[in-house]
Amino acid sequence: MSQLTPLIAGNWKLNGTKSLLSEFAHVFNSINISNVDVLICPPSVYIDTLVQLNENTDSILKVGAQTVSEQISGAFTGEISVSMLKELQTEFVIVGHSERRAIFGETPELVAKKYQTTLMNQLTPILCTGETENDRNNNLTFDIVSRDIDAVINLTGIESFKDGIIAYEPVWAIGTGKSATPQQAQEVHHFIRNHLAKHNDEIAQGVRILYGGSVNEKNAAELFKQDDINGALVGGASLVSDKFMSICQHAQSSL
Ligand code: PEP
Repeated sequence: MSQLTPLIAGNWKLNGTKSLLSEFAHVFNSINISNVDVLICPPSVYIDTLVQLNENTDSILKVGAQTVSEQISGAFTGEISVSMLKELQTEFVIVGHSERRAIFGETPELVAKKYQTTLMNQLTPILCTGETENDRNNNLTFDIVSRDIDAVINLTGIESFKDGIIAYEPVWAIGTGKSATPQQAQEVHHFIRNHLAKHNDEIAQGVRILYGGSVNEKNAAELFKQDDINGALVGGASLVSDKFMSICQHAQSSL
């Protein structure tokens, strides 16, 4: 882990309840995890609950959304806009999670628009990218991550990574219990940083690059030892407070 403040982000997907959020706010209340940003991205209907819990406790949890519309407002039934998220005091938005790409058909260009819309409203986008098993077997990993990052650079310029975050999430590792090895993850994180550095070295060195894919309380410590891993995007283990806490503590110990 480099000198950048680690971010441990929990993506609850279509899971969780108000009472689970209360438990998290209680467990993460006034705890001594300094120098680590801890984020929960619950389903959007619970964002306000988390904000209220934070106001009523000393919970350190930051608040994020799992996706957002690329549209500002209008006739887009079911969508949620960045300004709505902002009004709820959301700070972070995950864009381009592999499930959004695979199940909801989000293209690199659409994801780049979501990234842009998020940034323009002063929220922090977390851009997810990662290859399928088939891509990896065909040596396409670097092509896939370059494609997703270049879509953002082409639309918004390299400067947009000054205030954004990248999450490398190999699709074959998500929800499978089969994490990338620390070496496999580091190789791709290093590639991503170098790719950005071709445009602007200072921005490249300042971008937090999270690893996601079956991170748990047992494998987190080794992942966080890698130079270019600046935290984690956690799915399953972010729904269990003591596991998520343990991952955050490993991030703290790695500093
Ligand atoms: C994810 O959904 O982003 C993820 C990494 O899930 P899991 O940790 O369960 O593999």
